[in-house]
Amino acid sequence: MNETVQPHARRKAISRHLREWRGVAKAFLSTSHPIQVQIVPMRRCNLACGYCNEYDNFSSPVALVEMERRIDKLGELGTSLVTISGGEPLMHPDLEKIIARIRRNGALAGMITNGYLLVPERIQSLNAAGLDYLQISIDNVQPDEVSKKSLKVLDKKLLMLAEHARFDVNINSVLGSGVRNPEDALIIAKRAVELGFISTVGIIHDGKGQLRPLTGREAEVYQLVRRLGKRNFARFNKFQDNIAAGREHDWKCRAGARYLYICEEGLVHYCSQQRGYPGISLHDYTVEDIRREFETGKSCAPLCTVACAHYTSVLDQWRRPQHPPLVQIGAPASPAAVEEADLAGVLD
Ligand code: SF4
Ligand code: SF4
Repeated sequence: MNETVQPHARRKAISRHLREWRGVAKAFLSTSHPIQVQIVPMRRCNLACGYCNEYDNFSSPVALVEMERRIDKLGELGTSLVTISGGEPLMHPDLEKIIARIRRNGALAGMITNGYLLVPERIQSLNAAGLDYLQISIDNVQPDEVSKKSLKVLDKKLLMLAEHARFDVNINSVLGSGVRNPEDALIIAKRAVELGFISTVGIIHDGKGQLRPLTGREAEVYQLVRRLGKRNFARFNKFQDNIAAGREHDWKCRAGARYLYICEEGLVHYCSQQRGYPGISLHDYTVEDIRREFETGKSCAPLCTVACAHYTSVLDQWRRPQHPPLVQIGAPASPAAVEEADLAGVLD
């Protein structure tokens, strides 16, 4: 990022890429371990975005000793990438120790944050802990009554990241239902690229959790932002194109097997959108559970916009078919989590 730190940053980037490729090779060789896990160390958030059902304003952080047990268990299962989300993970007092534990278990470490609590010293401590990826979702250029995650507020945080971060930074902008000004996504994406960050764009559902085709200008902005982001993964682009057009997508969701969501209670869920399935304690989760879920179809798959689950599952698209869903579960319901869960792509 900053020119003065290039050699050091380059070494770290090379090491990260090697570990990524190791994760990809391992994923191709075996289907019996999770590729990517999203884990919540605290549900509390310092913001209160109007669309979000992923936070509260009171809960305590999960104790470090318990977080370390969970991370060790993910290590035993052979997880390649652990992404910390929330709530707001920067509010957890032992976040850096959690990141270090992820790395000690041999996994790549990512984090999704609203960025408000970032200061240079904290970025340095995230470097030292071994963070590999950080994502910030920016919803608009000017804050409004729905979201304070605006470029106006966060730009100074982006400058701090550009100067101090030794990890990859991904700035996610959003389009779709409830986004007042589609041009904002383009402004945010251009700023991200200008600062040397990765730029992605998420598409959010309407209020009933259903896909809605992008309008004319939204669709144009979507293509412009995607070109800026230089995404080149044909299968994933097809998924993105289908979402943008409001079309169903034909794919095999491997959630519960290759992609897990671990809530603050330590339960395994398919994803942030389908909590309660399978709803088994992580400590009791076994390779048999992974094998069962690998082959279980998900009825919510055709309208799903959970990008990280798509990214993860695409590695196994070519192999073993799935049997029909054991239970009918509804369409994904929370625009916030969909928008925030797009850290993936790091293994592409
Ligand atoms: S969208 Fe993110 S920042 Fe906003 S309330 Fe939810 S968890 Fe907090
Ligand atoms: S919402 Fe998407 S990621 Fe979650 S279980 Fe359904 S298809 Fe899979």
